[in-house]
Amino acid sequence: MGNHKEYHNKIYIRDKWKCQMPECLCPDGRNINPDLRGVNDPWAPSIDHVNQRSTGGKDHQHNMRAAHRYCNEQDARFTFHGEYGEQEPLTATLGELFPDLTALQVDNPVE
Ligand SMILES: [Zn+2]
Repeated sequence: MGNHKEYHNKIYIRDKWKCQMPECLCPDGRNINPDLRGVNDPWAPSIDHVNQRSTGGKDHQHNMRAAHRYCNEQDARFTFHGEYGEQEPLTATLGELFPDLTALQVDNPVE
């Protein structure tokens, strides 16, 4: 199995470096700039978990999608305040939203 960066790369490529959130908030459209990777920028690439792990989401490709960091974080907040009001609060920092960025479990590698 590859490291998590390679794995995330495959997700980005699969999604054609486009934000996959239902509602993209980027004024410039859905394209995600690969050069912003690792940069502290709201439009930097990030990986969204379609189902948050607290609601049973898993770390594999079918549950992961490319997203602007900003869209991703806004969606997490919306989820907390809206659909799952009883969840413990989600924080907005990328590291807290995605602890797997440093220890991703790859149980279903992208072909
Ligand atoms: Zn977006």
